[in-house]
Amino acid sequence: MLSVEEARQQMLDTIPVLPTEKLGILDCAGYVLAEALHATENIPPFDNSAMDGFALRSADVQQASKENPVALSVVETIAAGYEPEKHVSSRQTSRIMTGAMMPNGADAVVMQEMTELIGDEVKIFESVEKNENVRFTGESVQQGDCVMSPGKVLRPPEISMLASLNCAEVTVHQKPTVAIVSTGDELTPIGQPLTPGKIRDSNRYGIYAQVQSAGGIPVDMGIAPDDEVETEHIFREALTKADALITSGGVSVGEHDVVKNVLTKLGKMNFWRVAMKPGKPQVYGFIDGKPIFGLPGNPVSSLVVFELFVRPALLKMAGHTDLLRPTFKAVLATDVTNRDGRVNYMRAILTKQNGEFIAKTTGPQGSGILHSLVLANGLITIPAGATLHVGETVEAQFLH
Ligand code: AMP
Ligand code: MG
Repeated sequence: MLSVEEARQQMLDTIPVLPTEKLGILDCAGYVLAEALHATENIPPFDNSAMDGFALRSADVQQASKENPVALSVVETIAAGYEPEKHVSSRQTSRIMTGAMMPNGADAVVMQEMTELIGDEVKIFESVEKNENVRFTGESVQQGDCVMSPGKVLRPPEISMLASLNCAEVTVHQKPTVAIVSTGDELTPIGQPLTPGKIRDSNRYGIYAQVQSAGGIPVDMGIAPDDEVETEHIFREALTKADALITSGGVSVGEHDVVKNVLTKLGKMNFWRVAMKPGKPQVYGFIDGKPIFGLPGNPVSSLVVFELFVRPALLKMAGHTDLLRPTFKAVLATDVTNRDGRVNYMRAILTKQNGEFIAKTTGPQGSGILHSLVLANGLITIPAGATLHVGETVEAQFLH
């Protein structure tokens, strides 16, 4: 059986990155840039003041102090957005606002708090160096600079930068559209009465939310009954609407596990089992070039397998290169035993105390006990066959 790392590597090596599309600046948050962006303009586009104050010649105020202020005559006031009209000569100054264009002749700005304006004269109480409080043309970005490379995730700062560069549209990787199907005759959707033997379909809703939070676009395809013909019909239809398919249930060895037969008929599956708990039975493969993720039916297994496998895969499809959540060491606050021959991803509450992370498991860890995940903010990795005691360290990761 493949280890988690082997299976995930096999999967990530084969996951395709989706083609690109052009999007408007207001629609591209969270997308991954697919082009290099070069600045067509300088930022800032002109020398300007970093302060409200007085633009002057630094040489004029070399000796200025609280006790010996230097008086200068004010020739104009320059507001942000307007071009200065006057040249600043020796013993002169222009009142200037933050972001306003520096006037010719001036080489520094003294901030308003260090001055006193009386009529058309101002007393300067402080000396300044040449260039002080001036922001220079192109000091943030120079025309021609490569400001962002392909692979850059477009967060709010990047979007602000695009606007600064007069860039209304960008080429990004498409986000994956992901069809979601629950399988099983026992499943009842929200809103319908539970009859004997039936349970609520919870996976479809949880997976839907997981797809959204991984940046994908979910498409709800409902519940497929344990019937091969109907399941095949729903899977085929799902694949006409999406770039990938996620199913849950029907991938273990039960005799009604029709999912296995249908997937094998429709495409090529790469693996069926991974040495992990929860989530040993799971499928990864392709139908017509589209990735198929068959998650286990048990609610905890389904959510955990999504987190460890499907989330990074969807990120890769969308063009991301940073795919896995960071892991770190945490100190156990409870004894844990993993009698199994497979690594166990236990659900835990991770808190920071005195500079280190503490991990406390969230009660019973059965793969059907969804509450163990509701209470958790992370997973801890317990190696196969390990018994670990309070104070020992484990590998941990957050679930958000
Ligand atoms: P299966 O692999 O289909 O035999 O499912 C394993 C367990 O998960 C069974 O107890 C199923 O009833 C349960 N299960 C399967 N699909 C879902 C679902 N969508 N929501 C909640 N439980 C499910
Ligand atoms: Mg089933």
